[in-house]
Amino acid sequence: MQLPFDDMSRRRLLRTIAGAAAGVAGSASTDDAFATGKKSKAEVAYQDTPHRIERCEICAPFLPPDQCRTVVGPVSRQGWCKEYEGVY
Ligand code: SF4
Repeated sequence: MQLPFDDMSRRRLLRTIAGAAAGVAGSASTDDAFATGKKSKAEVAYQDTPHRIERCEICAPFLPPDQCRTVVGPVSRQGWCKEYEGVY
């Protein structure tokens, strides 16, 4: 039976599908940010370490044990980002 695609078209189609699937998998945190209305870690320069004395566990949006109202989690108690809002 003859298929409607020649070998080249089939290869191009498979590459396109594989590329689209990889793109979807690779943007999971961006998708999470969009779905939750929160900012991605990259957007706020999140890091897993404190910035001087500033850290997530003393930041207003922090939700113990590891979530944040502003940034897609999980976040570390000892983490920090540019959205920091100190409570002390
Ligand atoms: S420092 Fe950033 S990631 Fe950490 S709790 Fe505050 S807003 Fe959230």
